[in-house]
Amino acid sequence: MEIRTNYMDGNYAIYVDYGILEDQISQYTSQYTSVHFIVDQNVYTLYQDSTLSFVQNPIILEGGEASKSFDAFKRITETLLERGIKRNDLLIVIGGGAVGDAGGFAAATVLRGVDYIQVPTTLLAHDSSIGGKTAINSTFGKNLIGAFHRPKAVIYDLSFLETLPPHELLSGFGEVFKHALLKDEQTVKALMEATKNEISLDTLKPFIISGIETKMHYVTNDEKESGIRKFLNLGHTLGHAIEYKYKMPHGIAIVLGLYFMIYASNAEERQNIFDLKLFRHYFEQHGYPLDQLKTINETEMMTLMGKDKKNQSSGSIGFVLMKNFGQCYFTEIDNDLLEKYIKQLKESL
Ligand code: NAD
Ligand code: ZN
Repeated sequence: MEIRTNYMDGNYAIYVDYGILEDQISQYTSQYTSVHFIVDQNVYTLYQDSTLSFVQNPIILEGGEASKSFDAFKRITETLLERGIKRNDLLIVIGGGAVGDAGGFAAATVLRGVDYIQVPTTLLAHDSSIGGKTAINSTFGKNLIGAFHRPKAVIYDLSFLETLPPHELLSGFGEVFKHALLKDEQTVKALMEATKNEISLDTLKPFIISGIETKMHYVTNDEKESGIRKFLNLGHTLGHAIEYKYKMPHGIAIVLGLYFMIYASNAEERQNIFDLKLFRHYFEQHGYPLDQLKTINETEMMTLMGKDKKNQSSGSIGFVLMKNFGQCYFTEIDNDLLEKYIKQLKESL
């Protein structure tokens, strides 16, 4: 399956399928004199003798947030320079969203930018590898140092997903679910039906593709996030605060954020547009810890949400809510009201 981006220029292909990596990569590497690899350590350990046996002399990154540190950035860029990287070389970044962000940022900055290919290996990376955002973390917060830098291609070989630990699958699925909510009711229903017993990779491929297309839609129409790209933050305002406080995987915290978003959307419309009970049952059945919402402290969450780099004004907090499936809108919710919604949600659980 090949999806083409739809920018004014600088378009690229996103390939999604099983067992496609080496063939697809060779189409690109033949156009460059030198190719450099950056690979997630866990992925390399699992695949160096199989899918990744063609990878030569990779720069190995620890995987997870450690790869987005200043130290890791220094090591990547200095190693590339030591190896004599040229402006017209290609960088291939293989790993989860963290390695993808870090490798992408190195590609954006070394020699003021070199070409690169993203090879996502987690379910969550169906989201993070699309859109051209690259970043590392600061001591003041996540993703605060970064650049927009589009890859030359994204090669998403779904066979990598077979070795994902269950909590990483659950985390990535949170973003698959968010993309379905952003699309339409039919997609949400089909996704819930396909995963009613378990979240299994066998049934996910069409929803991953649809998620990529949905993300592409928002990103191509608003690359620098001045308008509709904000809708991709659905569930993220409270989700980020929960992720920070409880150190849970990103997409799992996002599901908790989505559950609150559904509650707040109903409350703002003063009617039950969404069947909260149905979502609660579905999320809990798959192991998302909705109970954690009972223990959150409103004041602390408000403070954390206010610090979000996307929330600059005081007295209210910006939220993406839904009028219906696929129909998002951006609104500022006054602090008092927001606190009330959080309290009510806690009481309802
Ligand atoms: P991750 O990159 O931290 O990977 C999770 C863990 O899985 C790591 O330990 C990794 O080594 C391991 N792993 C990766 N692939 C594997 C495989 N195939 N089999 C077994 N283990 C594997 O986590 P993630 O959820 O993929 O990405 C999260 C990152 O993505 C965060 O840093 C977040 O900020 C970023 N992100 C970026 C964007 C963007 O637009 N750039 C969007 C969303 C998230
Ligand atoms: Zn996210």
